[in-house]
Amino acid sequence: MKIKLIIAAALALFVVSTQAQAKLKIFACEPEWKALAETIGGEQVKVTSATTAFQDPHHIEARPSLIAKTRRADLLICTGSELEIGWLPLLLRQSGNPQIQAGKPGYFMASEQVERIEVPEQMDRSMGDIHASGNPHVHLDPHRLLSIAEKLSQRLQLIDQKNAPFYEQQFANFRTKWLESVQSWEKQSATLAGKKVVVYHKNWSYLLAWLGIEAVADLEPKPGIPPTSSHLISLLQVAESEQPEVILIAAYQGDKGARWLSEKSGIPMLTLPFTVGGNNASTDLFTLYENTVSQLLNTLQDD
Ligand SMILES: [Zn+2]
Repeated sequence: MKIKLIIAAALALFVVSTQAQAKLKIFACEPEWKALAETIGGEQVKVTSATTAFQDPHHIEARPSLIAKTRRADLLICTGSELEIGWLPLLLRQSGNPQIQAGKPGYFMASEQVERIEVPEQMDRSMGDIHASGNPHVHLDPHRLLSIAEKLSQRLQLIDQKNAPFYEQQFANFRTKWLESVQSWEKQSATLAGKKVVVYHKNWSYLLAWLGIEAVADLEPKPGIPPTSSHLISLLQVAESEQPEVILIAAYQGDKGARWLSEKSGIPMLTLPFTVGGNNASTDLFTLYENTVSQLLNTLQDD
C-alpha cells in the first residue's frame, strides 16, 4: 500500500514536472519576432532566434543547427514577404516538420499580417534585389507591430488552446502599455518631422514614414547591391543639394560606405540598433524604440 502511494506520488510529480516543461517551442527568424513572441507568450513559450542583431537577415546560412531547431518547433515566426527567401525555404524543406509548413497554423509570417509599403508595380531583375510583395521591414512601425502582436496572440490561442485565455490577456496587457509608449514617443519625436536622412537599404522605410522623416539618398545603388565608388561619388552631389542631416546604418551593416560619405560630406553617421540586441540598451521592443527615438533626437536636434 505504502509503495503504491509512493509510486503514485512520484508519478504525479513526474506529470506535473513534464507539464511545466511542456512549453510551446517557437522558432523566430529575427530577434524582433523572438522578442514579440516572448512578450505575448510569456512563460508558456520557449523561443529561439535564427539570427542576431548583427546578422543581415536577408543572407544567412541554413546551418544544420538551425535545421535541428526547426525540426522541433511548434511555431515558426518570420518576417516573410520574401525577406528570408534565400534560406528559409531550405530550412523548411530540411526540417521535415509538417506543423510549420506554409499554410499551417504553425507558420506565421509577421509582415504578411499587415499592409506593406513600396510594393513594386513591376518586377525586373535589373532593378536589383527588390522585395516583390512590398517592403518586409515592418517591425519599426509601432502601429503595424501592434496589429502583428494581436494576430500572433490569436495564432497562439489556436495552437495552444488550453492557454488561450493567458495569450489573450498577455496581448491586452501589451496593448495598453504599448499604446501609452507610442503616444509618448510620438510626442517626443514631433520635431523630427521633415528632417532628411541618407539610408543604407530600405530597411528604415517604416520607421521614417512613422516619424515623418524623408530618405533623400540610399548608399545602395540598387536594392541589395552594396555601395560602389561611382554611386558614392554621385551621393556627394545629392548631399550638397538635399542637405540630409544624418547617414543611418543598422548594427548589422558594414559602415565603410557610410564612413566614406560622412568624411567627404561632413554629414554625421548614426548606427541604430535596428532590432532587439543591436546595442546594449535595446533589450526588448520597448527599449529598442526608446533608444532609436532618443538617438535620432540627439543627432537631429535643431540648431
Ligand atoms: Zn530588405
